[in-house]
Amino acid sequence: MIRHDVLIIGAGISGLMTALEASKTVDVGVLSKVHSVRSHSGAAQGGIAASLGNEEEDNWEWHMFDTVKGSDYLADQDKVEVLVREAPRALIELEHMGVPFTRNENGSIAQRFFGGHTRAFGKAPVRRACYASDRTGRVIMNNVYDHALARGVKVYHEHFAFKLHLDNRRVTGVTCYDLATSEVKTIHAKAVVIATGGMGRVFQTTSNGNVATGDGLALALNVGVPLMDMEFIQFHPTGFHGLGVLVTEAARGQGGILRNDSGERFMERYAPSIKDLAPRDVVSRAILTEIQEGRGINGKDYVHLDLTHLDEGVVEEKLSEITEISRNFLDIDPVKKPIPVAPTCHYMMGGVPTDVNGAVPEIEGLYSVGESACVSVHGSNRLGCNSLIDLVVFGKRAGKTVADYVSSIDWGYEPEYSGEPMISTLLNSDGGAIIHEIRGEMRKIMTNNVSIFRTEESLNNALAKIRQLRLMYQDIGLIHRGKVHNMELREALELDNMLMVAEAVIFSALNREESRGAHSRTDYPERDDANWLKHTLVKNVNGGLEITYRPVTITRFHPKERKY
Ligand SMILES: Cc1cc2nc3c(=O)[nH]c(=O)nc-3n(C[C@H](O)[C@H](O)[C@H](O)COP(=O)(O)OP(=O)(O)OC[C@H]3O[C@@H](n4cnc5c(N)ncnc54)[C@H](O)[C@@H]3O)c2cc1C
Repeated sequence: MIRHDVLIIGAGISGLMTALEASKTVDVGVLSKVHSVRSHSGAAQGGIAASLGNEEEDNWEWHMFDTVKGSDYLADQDKVEVLVREAPRALIELEHMGVPFTRNENGSIAQRFFGGHTRAFGKAPVRRACYASDRTGRVIMNNVYDHALARGVKVYHEHFAFKLHLDNRRVTGVTCYDLATSEVKTIHAKAVVIATGGMGRVFQTTSNGNVATGDGLALALNVGVPLMDMEFIQFHPTGFHGLGVLVTEAARGQGGILRNDSGERFMERYAPSIKDLAPRDVVSRAILTEIQEGRGINGKDYVHLDLTHLDEGVVEEKLSEITEISRNFLDIDPVKKPIPVAPTCHYMMGGVPTDVNGAVPEIEGLYSVGESACVSVHGSNRLGCNSLIDLVVFGKRAGKTVADYVSSIDWGYEPEYSGEPMISTLLNSDGGAIIHEIRGEMRKIMTNNVSIFRTEESLNNALAKIRQLRLMYQDIGLIHRGKVHNMELREALELDNMLMVAEAVIFSALNREESRGAHSRTDYPERDDANWLKHTLVKNVNGGLEITYRPVTITRFHPKERKY
């Protein structure tokens, strides 16, 4: 049987940072269902936040204030403090690893404006986002991947994990299958790290790549681990209209302006002080309100992102990727014409609850990092650029902790289950339900009922329909039965996971009777700190879902009305 001291599921930036740190002292294996460098981390565009103060004065306390206020006071402040205090050092380490950040003339790392990042506790925007044009994730991803190879980390590309093994409440390994051959492999490990990224593909319109199907969340739910704050799904204000592909917030950081049908800079009405640089929940609600009140472009379901007043060199150099996408896919040159944009599902604030070292308290030897984890530093709404820094800071911490842990324990029992029956049952399934039809229906239901504005009625409706789809799933039939790169087989496993996670999202959203951050209930429009300043935990109990709560840690900043 294959063995690794530490087995990491997920080779995005968080998984690889964990691997790099752990592999200094122990043996590490990493599973990725796509080639590592195709992980979604490589698509990150705008930047990574750290209070370096290279442009103007900045410090970790201001970064902390912004992150807590952005989270609508749901983030645990002790955890946020760890993130923002360690961010500058982590950033410099990336620089030393050779990440080619964009630089100022004097050689320092250049920084730009991003939504919700301010100086002096909200006085004015501050330039805190370090970047490499609008390909920041790509350069970090390639760099950490190279380092992981040099360090001898064993990466199993195109291996899909579908079963987590426990002995009592201790992790013993993972069963996965090789996508190229459908061969099932069980790997024995002393510790397992879930680093599987997000779940944006549950929605119809999303900025997320194909991998974001919440597999790790389903693995956790299946072994009785709760998920935290799953109702908080971030909709990024600016997806290319009709595509959902992201137009980075850096476009507004560089001076871009959102306009409605009459050309009005409407964010002045919603966030008079920082306008287009307000956090994402605020801007997405503003765009949707403009559209619903008939001020979308030509009365349609989008607004304009105007870059035409910016210096052409800035657009070409600092926003090169989105400029290229706009020209190639929409036939619109952003230098000359505004870009049609609408909100797109982007990020989940919730996930597997962990401590600041990635440990999942319910199960010995289980860890989680990155978007699949919920530390929680983003609360109910994440600020732009705070995910990449979260991956690096908490990835490193988890790597060190997991290495120490596995060095101190024996191998324990080998996992027994082979997983073969599950794959062959699926390959031989011949029911009448078709995978892509169920998936399409799920996405429509989620987009129509569970996106930016929600009500009890829309959520009940969604819950009933998703449960119906879960029943239908029991009767799926695969059209393709081949064992070589059978995409339908992978999609079948992903669909099961997505339906499970979708149900957990809706169930949590239905339960929270207030509006906070990205969770806007039009039937409960106010934030209600007296009853709801707490984290939601949703858990599988005897095949049904159950909710419990956890208090929020408040240290420095007491909840106030959130105005921008
Ligand atoms: C278009 C876009 C732009 C963004 N821009 C920014 C930005 O500028 N700044 C910022 O801070 N954040 C940004 N974000 C958010 C940020 O990029 C993500 O939150 C982050 O990259 C997630 O990293 P991760 O390591 O958690 O997972 P990912 O990079 O998503 O990787 C997940 C890994 O898990 C593996 N995996 C999943 N399921 C399985 C399975 N069943 N078996 C085996 N392997 C599996 C995948 O193969 C992959 O390797 C952006 C996100 C998007 C979508």
